[in-house]
Amino acid sequence: MILRGIDPFSPARRRTRVVSVGDVKIGGQNPIRIQSMTNTDTMDTAGTVEQVTKLAEAGCEIVRVTAPSIRDAENLRGIREQLVKLGIDVPLVADIHFTPNAAMIAADIVEKVRINPGNYADKKKFEVREYDESQYGEEVERVADRFRPLVLRCQTNGTAMRIGTNHGSLSDRIMNRFGDTALGMVESALEFLDVCEAESYFDVVFSMKASNTQVAITAYRLLAERLEARKPGEDSYPFHVGVTEAGAAEDGRIKSAIGIGSLLEDGLGDTIRVSLTEDPVREVPVARGITERAGRDLIVSSPTSSGDASIEIDATPIDLGLEQTRRSSVAMNWAGLDVGGEAPIRVELEIADALARPAEVAARIATELSALHDVECESLLIGCSGSEEFSRIVEFHRELESLGQGLPISLRIDLADDEVLDGATQPVVLPIEMSLGRWVGRIDASTKGSDILRFAEAARKARVSIEWELSGQNHEIPGLVRAALSNMGGDSLDCAVSLVPSASLHAVRILAATLADQQASTLPIVLRQRMDAPPTSASVDSAGTSIPDAALIDASVRLGSLLCDGIGDVVSVHSGIDVAVAVDLTYRILQGARQRTTRTEYISCPSCGRTLFDLEETTAKIQARTDHLPGLKIAVMGCIVNGPGEMADADFGYVGSGVGQITLYVGKEVVARAVPEIEATDRLVELIRDNGRWVDEPED
Ligand code: SF4
Repeated sequence: MILRGIDPFSPARRRTRVVSVGDVKIGGQNPIRIQSMTNTDTMDTAGTVEQVTKLAEAGCEIVRVTAPSIRDAENLRGIREQLVKLGIDVPLVADIHFTPNAAMIAADIVEKVRINPGNYADKKKFEVREYDESQYGEEVERVADRFRPLVLRCQTNGTAMRIGTNHGSLSDRIMNRFGDTALGMVESALEFLDVCEAESYFDVVFSMKASNTQVAITAYRLLAERLEARKPGEDSYPFHVGVTEAGAAEDGRIKSAIGIGSLLEDGLGDTIRVSLTEDPVREVPVARGITERAGRDLIVSSPTSSGDASIEIDATPIDLGLEQTRRSSVAMNWAGLDVGGEAPIRVELEIADALARPAEVAARIATELSALHDVECESLLIGCSGSEEFSRIVEFHRELESLGQGLPISLRIDLADDEVLDGATQPVVLPIEMSLGRWVGRIDASTKGSDILRFAEAARKARVSIEWELSGQNHEIPGLVRAALSNMGGDSLDCAVSLVPSASLHAVRILAATLADQQASTLPIVLRQRMDAPPTSASVDSAGTSIPDAALIDASVRLGSLLCDGIGDVVSVHSGIDVAVAVDLTYRILQGARQRTTRTEYISCPSCGRTLFDLEETTAKIQARTDHLPGLKIAVMGCIVNGPGEMADADFGYVGSGVGQITLYVGKEVVARAVPEIEATDRLVELIRDNGRWVDEPED
């Protein structure tokens, strides 16, 4: 299914109407707005005012405050008055779940109201019930009657509204008809839009959040497509983009960057919130890093620039559909490492200068890689130039092996390097125990067909696989693919393809689409990524994580987006940072994109005024006990009102249900209520054991 309204080959921003939230305008040509949410008790006026002030000073352009009750909603007036006295004019949004009466009050005070279609007029009971058409219609009408007064109030006041659907809190009615799906999320939101449009109220922004990045991406894309289908060619409604319950530290940032960044690269998103289980002020620089990265791509490819967006691409648009299954590819073996086919997506390091100083580089790589826990670098790609370097390959390999890192090695060779090509095809060059993974050769617009053929023939003679790395502008990629594939000579030769690391993710989509057009859709694709330390004046701070945020955001967006779409068989990283950090980050991105699981996943809410315990501290405590259980999903949620619904596909849940009290879940089932907080982590561990999901931590 090719989605209407999204160009897979260029990051052209989707056209939307402008919605005013006080003086801040969302959508149209306005910048992508950054917002966040307080996690103070809304009845704590001073505390909330202080946090709103800090957020505004950090660059947050819109601040959301929870309004769980009528009292809280009324207290928004006091908060607003204090902010005015302090000269803070950031627009406020009231966050509403389950309490339409609070929404009616908030709509008189703040600039925007967020409602959740899953619980605005429904209580979540996890009931399974069949609805016939007339019963379903009656329910929709009941919800509309409940919602209409808020629409009319917002219209009268000029208050904006976000229809904010969450994957985990769909109503029982929607769940029973559409299941726990992106389609259900979209249908749920559109029912509420119908009421708005019937009253000619259009100041609407949408969100489709999920903690699963693939579900979030799918839901936003599907909503864009459905809105375009409703009113083709018209400016549509702006999107608020976010990944909910993303967690904390590196993984929270990675998940957010994958989900939000991917959508911005699709041109979807007019305001964003990064939601971390941390002080909300720390969300702002991460959000800024994501919008700045998107801004760079949007500017480079705008139709008025000399970028590729204005140039027709000679490839059939790739399916950015709703089934994000991994693209199928042929299986290969690179010096003992299975690649493509059913093999997991591999993680490789590229080391340019290894053969210039083999012993020194081997020692550095081995030392840095030895710091890895739970994951490992699976392959090395090293540059090889001239016969002297070629003669040092064995030394480098043996050196690494003696240091406990006997990894498969592939060579990057210049197509015109006669010395290496001649040397590599001699009968006895490498010892039997050291076969090479593949040769990587770069092709650009100036490469001659005869050089491509000679390289392929030499690889065939040396019995080694190849990878063509293509380098060119987006519109040149189809031609480069054709040149590579048509000059490979006779007999079959295992071949993978890639683009240079500076190529955009849209360029990689063009590559995948061209391969499909050339009946070569099963060639494995290698994703290349540079991870460099940011300049000292980096625009984002590292917020206590071990990875520079700029490298983290760029890699998460670029790789994560492609991986979520099922593109990529190998991630090959050229690292300007510590190689262990780069490898670890790559595995975290693979997990964030739900493509390769190597650690425990935590789904923790960002906390808000409803939160019943210290989420950051508790999550860290649970993490310390359980972070050696790969594949397990543990939810840590601040309140029983929203927590159980929001934790979607978690295996175990730890949910605040009263002051000092925790309710524990296995899946969606309550298994222990009112557990004293002090005992709750131990009880959670017991539950994991009782359900056969525990393994003892390996000893160091
Ligand atoms: S789950 Fe967390 S963020 Fe959501 S309403 Fe409850 S406490 Fe607030």
